[in-house]
Amino acid sequence: MINVTKSYLPSLEDYVKYLEAIWERGHLTNHGPLVNELEDKLKEWLDVKHFYFVNNGTIAIQLAIKALDLKGEVITTPFSYVATSSSLVWENTQPVFVDIDPKTFTIDTKKIEAAITPKTSAILSTHVYGIPCDVEAIESIAKKHKLKVIYDAAHAFGVQYKGKSIMQYGDISTLSFHATKLFHTVEGGGVSTQDAELAHRISYMRNFGHKGQEEFWGLGINGKNSELHAAMGLCIFPKISEILQLRKKLSETYTHYFNELQVNIQRPVLPQHTEYNYAYYPVVFENEKQLLTVRDNLNAAYIYPRRYFFPALNSLPYFVPKQSLPIAESISERVLCLPLYHDLSPDNIRRICQIIAQVLKY
Ligand SMILES: *Cc1c(COP(=O)(O)O)cnc(C)c1O
Repeated sequence: MINVTKSYLPSLEDYVKYLEAIWERGHLTNHGPLVNELEDKLKEWLDVKHFYFVNNGTIAIQLAIKALDLKGEVITTPFSYVATSSSLVWENTQPVFVDIDPKTFTIDTKKIEAAITPKTSAILSTHVYGIPCDVEAIESIAKKHKLKVIYDAAHAFGVQYKGKSIMQYGDISTLSFHATKLFHTVEGGGVSTQDAELAHRISYMRNFGHKGQEEFWGLGINGKNSELHAAMGLCIFPKISEILQLRKKLSETYTHYFNELQVNIQRPVLPQHTEYNYAYYPVVFENEKQLLTVRDNLNAAYIYPRRYFFPALNSLPYFVPKQSLPIAESISERVLCLPLYHDLSPDNIRRICQIIAQVLKY
C-alpha cells in the first residue's frame, strides 16, 4: 500500500537513548531540557529571532491570533487546511476569504484591498504546499492599512525566499510538526516572530500565563509540548537535509516520468527566488471527473493520493452567507497530492505516472 505520505521514523535505538535519559531525569514536560534544546536548534536552523515549540500547529495559529489581539474581520485564504480558518472562528474573528492566484495557489494579493473594511484587523495566509505567498505585496498592503500579518507556514518548513527564511516575513509565522509533515515531533507545532514584545506575550500565553508559580502575567492556555515529543524532533533534526534532498529527488523523478510519458499536467508555479522544500507534489486535472477516475485507478493499485485541499474552505458548513471564490473552488475540485515521502521508490513513482498517463490519454 502506498499512501500520500509516510512519517519519517528515526532509528528506534536513537529514540530509546533519549527515553533512557528522560526516565533518569523524571522530567516529562513543562519546559524540560529536551524541549529547550529543540527550541534552540530550530530557532537557529529556521533563522528566526524568537521561536516557541508548542503542542500542535492549530494552537500555534490560535496563539498568534491571541498574541496580536485580533478582532473583527481577518482576510484569509480559502485554499488551505481547515485549521487555518477554523482557528479564526474559534478565536471569535470573522474570516473574510479572498480568492487565490491561479498560478501559485496562494492568496491573490490583487484582490485583498477590495476586501478590506473598517473592521479588518489582519491578514492570515498560508504558504500552501510550501509555496511562498506574495509576501512583499502583503507587507505593503498591511503597512498601508495598518493590518497585522500571520503566515500559516505549516507546509513551509525550510523554505527560503530571496535568500531569507520564509519565517521572517509577517508579524508571526506558525508551523506544524504533525506526523504527516516534512519535519515532525509526532504532534507539535511552532510559533516564530522577529518582534521581542510579541515573543514575550507568546511565551506567557503558551504556559497558562504563569509568571512563576503563584503569579500570573495574564490570560494563557496550555500550549506546552513534552520531552517525549521533543525527543522525536531531536532524533529527526540531524536528518533534515537528507530528508529535503530525498524529497527534491523524488519530485524530480515524478516530473521526469511525466515528461517521458508526454503527460502535460498542470502544477502550481513557484515564485522566482524561492528555495523550495518539496513538501508536496500536487497535480491539477482538467476536471473533477478526470481526477476521480485517476483516483479510482490508483486506489485499485493500492495507491492512495489525497485531495489536499478539498473542499475550498469557504464552503464549510459554518460559513454563512457563502462567498463565491471561483478559482479556489475550481482548483480544489481538480487537485490531487501524489504520494511523496523519503523512501518512496522511483519504480513506484513510474507506476503512478503510468496509471495517470493512461487515464489522461484514453
Ligand atoms: C497540518 C496543518 C495545520 C495544523 O497543524 P496540526 O499540528 O495538525 O494542528 C494547520 N495549517 C496547515 C496549512 C496544515 O497543513
